[in-house]
Amino acid sequence: METIETDYLVIGAGAVGLSFADALLAESSATMVVVDRRHAPGGHWNDAYPFVRLHQPSLFYGVASMELGSGRIDDAGPNAGNFELASGPEVVTYFERVMRERLLPSGRVRYLPMHDVVSTDNGGALVRGRLGGADRKIVVNRKIVDGTYYNTTIPSTHQRKFDVAPGVDCIAPNDLPRRAPGAGRFVILGGGKTAMDVGVWLLENGVDPDAVVWVRPRDSWLINRDTTQPTSRFFHQSIGSMATQMEAAVVATSVDDLFDRLEAADIMLRIDPTTRPEMFHYATISIGEVELLRRIGDVRRGARVTRIEPGALAFTDGARSSTPPGALYIDCTATAVERRPPVPTFNGDRITLQMVRLPNPAFSAALAAYVEAHYTDEAEKNRLCAACPLPDSPADWPAATVANMMNQYAWNQDKTLRDWITRCRLDGFGQVVRDADKSDPAQAAVLQRLKEAIMPAVMNLQRLAAQPDAA
Ligand SMILES: Cc1cc2nc3c(=O)[nH]c(=O)nc-3n(C[C@H](O)[C@H](O)[C@H](O)COP(=O)(O)OP(=O)(O)OC[C@H]3O[C@@H](n4cnc5c(N)ncnc54)[C@H](O)[C@@H]3O)c2cc1C
Repeated sequence: METIETDYLVIGAGAVGLSFADALLAESSATMVVVDRRHAPGGHWNDAYPFVRLHQPSLFYGVASMELGSGRIDDAGPNAGNFELASGPEVVTYFERVMRERLLPSGRVRYLPMHDVVSTDNGGALVRGRLGGADRKIVVNRKIVDGTYYNTTIPSTHQRKFDVAPGVDCIAPNDLPRRAPGAGRFVILGGGKTAMDVGVWLLENGVDPDAVVWVRPRDSWLINRDTTQPTSRFFHQSIGSMATQMEAAVVATSVDDLFDRLEAADIMLRIDPTTRPEMFHYATISIGEVELLRRIGDVRRGARVTRIEPGALAFTDGARSSTPPGALYIDCTATAVERRPPVPTFNGDRITLQMVRLPNPAFSAALAAYVEAHYTDEAEKNRLCAACPLPDSPADWPAATVANMMNQYAWNQDKTLRDWITRCRLDGFGQVVRDADKSDPAQAAVLQRLKEAIMPAVMNLQRLAAQPDAA
């Protein structure tokens, strides 16, 4: 059996594993082996539906050392006026370039695609080639880095949690462009961002909204993409919204009251203004997309689907509901990022990459690499990289936001780390604050509002997080 010796073994060549590897390469002289069972870098993006795009501006996604996109402002479509959102193929090409132009030429990174990590122990790991099955022993001198903790699942590769009777046409969104022209009726299954992308795609391509049934067990609060734009050009949109958000957090009397205030300020959106959302996963969307999705009137809420039969759906609560005969069902029920409990990022010879800033997995992984390279005390490292709990419902938002703010506070106390963060391409908004024109009274006023609101917001959010409906 071949033995490969390395300083770090990075499991997963998705955005998270590669962002960590890229930053560790920049900040240390370590060697790395990156292992992934997929054939190419980029993780789940390799299997994404063809009309997928980033939810967030390309400008602060990917790895720290390499730009993604050209910093273009879209001038058409629902994202007009905002920074470009890379398409799936662009993201895959980008990660391929990261591997080919950045990581491999360093001579310090070895990449093993089409390999499973079969087992790990204190000294390393056993990896197995998926073609031919050759095993390799990886001897790890420093640490094993787990870039798979969130177990991202997408419709084209996940295990469905419902049955499909013979004769029912149920596809992943990947097949939609090919199959939609032959279908007259559509049933979208799922309430997350993928389902929204499918709804937008159908309507933008001329499908009558009345030909669509949307099985949306829970509605979701959605972040208005206008408020997530980096660079000083968008100072008032982004930092102004942040100040408004903090001010709402200071005075909110309940989680519902908080979200109502954020909605009134156009920071949070919902598709149906008459239904109170029970989900919050940081899905980010434009107002134009929300307006489009509101045109789909036949929404089935409540339970989850257990079985699809010709012309009928069965639900977890025993209910049944009829659907148009011969409809094309589009499975958008994969969970994307799994809600797993936070664990220590640094634990002996293991690093478990998690979000230390929500919802920014790439930035979080880069920061963990920086901390790994420059700090020695494990308690200190975990203090700087405390994993934030991923929210599932609006009631989880206060605790998640407090965790974000506590981390930011810890980083701000450390000048070297703070400087690294403000230089880091993946830090969208710190740079906007840094570049603010303090001589401009309007910008100075926003910064002052933000400064005044932060501490009372933390205190009130802690109170809201402790309310009975909070997780
Ligand atoms: C449609 C969609 C859009 C999104 N848009 C955004 C966005 O705009 N911004 C944002 O920040 N986030 C976004 N996300 C969240 C997304 O989860 C992250 O951006 C990121 O791509 C996840 O990367 P990852 O490395 O954690 O996971 P993955 O992409 O799943 O990568 C993990 C890799 O590990 C490999 N692996 C797992 N186990 C093993 C093993 N035992 N052996 C070998 N290899 C293994 C897998 O094959 C996989 O390639 C989006 C998610 C989805 C589904």
